Amino acid sequence: NTRVLTGITTSGTPHLGNYAGAIRPSIQASTQPGVDAFYFMADYHALIKCDDPQRVARSRLEIAATWIAAGLDTDKVTFYRQSDLPEIPELCWILTCVTAKGLMNRAHAYKASVDQNVARQADPDDGINMGLFSYPILMAADILLFNAHKVPVGRDQIQHLEMTRDIASRFNHLYGHGTDFFVLPEVQIDEEVATLPGLDGRKMSKSYDNTIPLFEGGAKALRSAVMRIVTDSREPGEPKDAEGSHLYALYRAFATPAESGAFRLQLEQGLGWGDAKAMLCERIEQEIGPMRDRYAELMAHPERIEDILQAGAEKARRLATPFMAVLREAVGLRSSA
Ligand code: ATP
Repeated sequence: NTRVLTGITTSGTPHLGNYAGAIRPSIQASTQPGVDAFYFMADYHALIKCDDPQRVARSRLEIAATWIAAGLDTDKVTFYRQSDLPEIPELCWILTCVTAKGLMNRAHAYKASVDQNVARQADPDDGINMGLFSYPILMAADILLFNAHKVPVGRDQIQHLEMTRDIASRFNHLYGHGTDFFVLPEVQIDEEVATLPGLDGRKMSKSYDNTIPLFEGGAKALRSAVMRIVTDSREPGEPKDAEGSHLYALYRAFATPAESGAFRLQLEQGLGWGDAKAMLCERIEQEIGPMRDRYAELMAHPERIEDILQAGAEKARRLATPFMAVLREAVGLRSSA
């Protein structure tokens, strides 16, 4: 079977981009024959950029509830919280010791932060914690612990997957003596899945506070966020540039090609932005509205989510614990931890 693995950082409320870019396709992938899916709440990753404990804890519940409400079969997939698996930070340390610092120096996320500091003439490492610097190694541990074959990611993550492969090869070379402990994972870029723009036109992201919430706040919050999407100043009756508008990009993620074509034509024929926003809301509601009650019910009973996550952690550890024992022995640590 092919092992597919993906995680969502628990640093805020899940948004339309997380849904269309990760949650919806991951649920679809998990129903394919021959696929073993591993999906997790990346709460160790959240600590890199978020020092608000309540936000991390709340986000974890919201993301788990979202996945379940959207139809994930938690009996079929392995569904867990990263921090319930002590094997992950343990493997992360072992991998840290085989990773060249120079490799991490080249990571985009770290380099972007350094460049920003240099641009404002601050110390290059100002405000950069070691978590941000070495987070590709934590990501490698997430993936390699389960020897995932495929990791569906956005384009910005391609480099980190290459780093995971580098780290895995290095470990195999150093300790394998002919046996490969780790599978080299492959990225899976789904051309159909677009990166959704946020309210301000940048990538919709929890860290930019430009998101359209999926369930939180109900249909009202969704509508009020959609009304805040930035558009140009063309009046109703004037032809709109559909391709260039964020609104159209969002609409396409929730409609069939035929519906999108019709919407585009209406925009080009002068549909007003207000009416276009109402149509977008309606389209999104049709898809996610029916999931909302289930989400609310789960959020009202966090203990149910907790039970599901505990069962998921147990299932994950049935694979992780024995594999970790093998890896410990390979590097010369006591094998039964
Ligand atoms: P953060 O700002 O904390 O990095 P994020 O909202 O950008 O959060 P992640 O938790 O890093 O999202 O990503 C979870 C998943 O959601 C990933 O698979 C990512 O590709 C997907 N995703 C995030 N933002 C978008 C977006 N705007 N469009 C499509 N997919 C997205």
